[in-house]
Amino acid sequence: MKLSFEELLAEGGHFEGDFAFTEDDMKVNVENFSADFIPTDSGLFLDVEFSYSFEAPCARCLEPTKGFGKQTAGIQLMSQSLEDVKEETELTDDDMGVCWVEDDEIDLYEIIKQEVVFYLPVRVVCGEDCKGLCPQCGENLNLGSCKCKDVADPRWVGLDKLKNN
Ligand SMILES: [Zn+2]
Ligand SMILES: [Zn+2]
Repeated sequence: MKLSFEELLAEGGHFEGDFAFTEDDMKVNVENFSADFIPTDSGLFLDVEFSYSFEAPCARCLEPTKGFGKQTAGIQLMSQSLEDVKEETELTDDDMGVCWVEDDEIDLYEIIKQEVVFYLPVRVVCGEDCKGLCPQCGENLNLGSCKCKDVADPRWVGLDKLKNN
C-alpha cells in the first residue's frame, strides 16, 4: 500500500486493512491493522495497531504450530525533504522508531511488516514439553514412543544373560 508523504503531512489519514506475507519458513497473516497518520511539527507520526497470526514448523517436532499476537507501535516518519528537522530529531527520537521516507513514498504494508517481524518468535516450539523427533528413526515422540526404545542395545544383551544365569 503506497501512500504519499506530502499528502499525509498536509491532511493526516486513517487506514485499515489486512495482508499476508512469509518470513523465512513462517506464514504470517496481519489479520487487521489500524493506522493513523498524524502531522506533527517534526514530520509525520504513525500510530498503528495490529493483530497477527503465524504458522511455522515446530523447531523440535516439525509439526505446524500456530501463534498470534496483538501490538501497537509509534513510528516517526521523516522525509529527506525535511532536512532541517533531521538534526533536531536525532536528539529526541530515543524512544520511538524513526523511519526515513524516500521519494515521498510511504509503503504502509512494509512498515507494518517490519513491526510484526520484530515481535515474531525466533524459534517456534509447539509446547514447552514437546519431545521432538527420535534422532534414530525420526518418529514424532509426542505421538507415542517409537520402536527404537523397545529394541535393547545389543551391547547389553550379553550382560543380561550373564546376570540371569
Ligand atoms: Zn513440537
Ligand atoms: Zn526411534
